[in-house]
Amino acid sequence: MLKNCLECGQIFKTNTINVCPACEKEDQIFLHQIQDYLLLYPRANLRDLEQDLSITPRRLFRYLKENKLQLRT
Ligand SMILES: [Zn+2]
Repeated sequence: MLKNCLECGQIFKTNTINVCPACEKEDQIFLHQIQDYLLLYPRANLRDLEQDLSITPRRLFRYLKENKLQLRT
């Protein structure tokens, strides 16, 4: 089926993921950075991630929704 990428809006073909292959690739990089960051700062919140890693809130909320990101609050 065709979907609009939740990140950049581009139309792409998928059965599973919510973002296009280009954004999916970026996700991998960002999620890796987030993992490393949370090891250093386990109590970090969304705002810390947004500011220190320059990740858009929209992207962070999507990670939360997709259970790719869990924060201790
Ligand atoms: Zn995209």
